[in-house]
Amino acid sequence: MHNRLMQHQKFSRWHEKQLYLSFAWLLSCLMCGFLFAAIVEFVGKNLSGIFTIISLVVLYGIGLAAIELFRRFWAQFSFAQHCASSATCSSCGKYGQFEVRADAWPIYARCQKCDHQWVIGQDET
Ligand SMILES: [Zn+2]
Repeated sequence: MHNRLMQHQKFSRWHEKQLYLSFAWLLSCLMCGFLFAAIVEFVGKNLSGIFTIISLVVLYGIGLAAIELFRRFWAQFSFAQHCASSATCSSCGKYGQFEVRADAWPIYARCQKCDHQWVIGQDET
């Protein structure tokens, strides 16, 4: 019973979760940024041969990770916003009055107020 409740959740809750996920990516990206800055400062004080080269390789890796994390943040964030912009019932104008299955894509929305049905995300790649 509890499991069934977990699988179906109100759109607003689902959308909130998508946003939190995107902010988790953004936070990781910022952490990479801080790490990057810390290493740059550290290397600046300790310029010596092989150690500098290793640090540069590490910085390169962190830089790539930061870019990838930001890309994921942006993809997740725009995905959530796209869904939100399609969450208003075109029949009665109610926002997010339907449930979302956690693993379902596209989202088959069915308005709980007027029973109007539509699909979110079908035309996406
Ligand atoms: Zn409706």
